[in-house]
Amino acid sequence: MRSHLLNGLTAEHYRRSVTEGVERVAAKLATTDRPFTGVTVDALSPAIDAIDLDRPLGDTTAVLDELEDVYLRDAVYFHHPRYLAHLNCPVVIPAVLGEAVLSAVNSSLDTWDQSAGGTLIERRLIDWTAARIGLGPAADGVFTSGGTQSNLQALLLAREEAKPGRTGWEEGNSLGRLRVFASEVSHFSVKKSAKLLGLGPDAVVSIPVDHDKRMQTVALARELERCASDGLVPMAVVATAGTTDFGSIDPLPEIAGLCAQYGVWMHVDAAYGCGLLASLKYRDRIDGIERADSVTVDYHKSFFQPVSSSAVLVRDAATLRHATYHAEYLNPRRMVQERIPNQVDKSLQTTRRFDALKLWMTLRTMGADGVGQLFDEVCDLAREGWKLLAADPRYDVVVEPSLSTLVFRYVPAAVTDPAEIDRANLHARKALFASGDAVVAGTKVAGRHYLKFTLLNPETRTADIAAVLDLIAGHAEQYLGESLDRAS
Ligand SMILES: *Cc1c(COP(=O)(O)O)cnc(C)c1O
Repeated sequence: MRSHLLNGLTAEHYRRSVTEGVERVAAKLATTDRPFTGVTVDALSPAIDAIDLDRPLGDTTAVLDELEDVYLRDAVYFHHPRYLAHLNCPVVIPAVLGEAVLSAVNSSLDTWDQSAGGTLIERRLIDWTAARIGLGPAADGVFTSGGTQSNLQALLLAREEAKPGRTGWEEGNSLGRLRVFASEVSHFSVKKSAKLLGLGPDAVVSIPVDHDKRMQTVALARELERCASDGLVPMAVVATAGTTDFGSIDPLPEIAGLCAQYGVWMHVDAAYGCGLLASLKYRDRIDGIERADSVTVDYHKSFFQPVSSSAVLVRDAATLRHATYHAEYLNPRRMVQERIPNQVDKSLQTTRRFDALKLWMTLRTMGADGVGQLFDEVCDLAREGWKLLAADPRYDVVVEPSLSTLVFRYVPAAVTDPAEIDRANLHARKALFASGDAVVAGTKVAGRHYLKFTLLNPETRTADIAAVLDLIAGHAEQYLGESLDRAS
């Protein structure tokens, strides 16, 4: 059994095992002709249920053979040009190499004495990101498990910063007076965070969006005013730079102005839009982000990094103290005086992956421009897709893309019942998934069912988009035809 432990004696076994796994994946990548096989839960679960976890196969080749049947064959492949669904990117090779290295060395980034250079690499990347944002000399931050955690941490800091000095603040019974302002299409992690932070059920004030799905700053100003006149405490405004559904970017400069005027913490959720930090063409779309108090970035969305790779950045390093706890065995207070960098002092997590290595390998291999160019390509592709959709009488398309998302709906001229059109669109998405020919997402706009492309694959061509639109129309038409038969 010792032969399975990774150490100096098993280095050769490690090399062979990992190489064998890499070979399988490489073969898969080379031969995958659809993003998905269309396998159903009922078809796949018996194979997984039948495996006796108490009777190991013992041997890498046998395990990989089995894995082919239970996972690799039917996985959803994001590298395929017709995977157009969620905010998942194909990953860049230097980052995958980084992933292999970081899991083998298995550093833990909570303390210097569990990571050494890893800590310094993470700090350099935090500084690099903060500089790209323009947060100023006192900025800091930490890698997180994802945008959800980054938003939670940012709002924790905002909550703590909102408390002191407030007249009439009573610990314990004043949490219910805190208000967070976010657009109606902001990410649900804002509401989840509010709940986790013990805020009241009305804590998150939903601000309406304009035609382009951007926060209406007039409405925000009105709500901030109302908050003050009701004797409530504005805790944070969450501006979204790249909404999950539409890729729309809230008007950051105007929001920054209002935050300054009302003395409110400005958080920018750039989980998706952070790719523009590396863009060669569209960086100006997130101008104003430099005025944020905190920023969420998801490198695993628009920097082509494997899950997980994310960070939360703050303008003022001192605010991170709200996440600081000391333990004698781990990060005693004296280490701060000794200037030993323990990243756990800034993190909600304790044991923590060295995810930063993936971004490091990426920047050292391709450079930021290499990443930015890929993201620019998908933004350009979205523009081409928008033109296709806008010119296609079969489709209604919602907003011109600011990033790489298209939201649209099949609208046959002959059908007027919106509920029937809803069903046709839902059916088309399901049928397409079952065919495995392409994967698309869906959402609701004004109560109606729409379909969604999140374009993050620079290998996707305009011709792929056109082909998938034909497939969707085909499935929807078939549904409507059968529905007519059913009615008659
Ligand atoms: C994806 C997303 C999140 C959540 O990020 P995870 O990495 O999935 O936790 C938060 N905000 C926005 C705008 C997102 O698109």
